[in-house]
Amino acid sequence: MRSFDSLIRALPDFPRPGVTFRDITPLLADAGGFARCIDALAEPWQDARIEAVCGIESRGFIFGAALAQKLHAGFVPLRKPGKLPPPVVEVAYQLEYGSDRLQARSDALRPGERALLVDDVLATGGTLAAAHELVARLGATPVGASVLIELEALQGRARWPGGTPLHSLLRY
Ligand code: 5GP
Repeated sequence: MRSFDSLIRALPDFPRPGVTFRDITPLLADAGGFARCIDALAEPWQDARIEAVCGIESRGFIFGAALAQKLHAGFVPLRKPGKLPPPVVEVAYQLEYGSDRLQARSDALRPGERALLVDDVLATGGTLAAAHELVARLGATPVGASVLIELEALQGRARWPGGTPLHSLLRY
């Protein structure tokens, strides 16, 4: 049985010189590894009464949809601009270089609905913090977040609202 760690490929100097990209596709291609990964992501939330799993485009869709099934919750895609039909709610956020936006359908979550946020990687933390704000703006309750990989040197956790649980399976 291969560890998750051995199923993540480190690609040096991608997408830019000096950056090491963590490629999750070997993990997805390994039936047992992917299943164990979803089990491990779900484990902290088994008793959290999660009603909706919100996956961040695009790799967050893959883990989020599988996790939603595991937790018997619905799945809500948080998308890049221009993908969803209106009306949408939007949050803008800063990237390392430039800015981006996340959108959700304005009726995607019910008031107070208990939502779990999911993405593959926590890097500088801007994306996950924006997702938290988006879910809160929709009137739902962001119960917490799970990511597969946390890149600790980038200190993304510091941008995540304190007091809300954030779980990561692998830390580099
Ligand atoms: P942040 O906003 O935390 O800086 O960036 C997180 C977003 O960038 C996530 O949606 C994630 O998919 C993507 N990302 C950043 N670095 C990596 C990486 O090394 N590997 C993968 N798979 N995604 C990354």
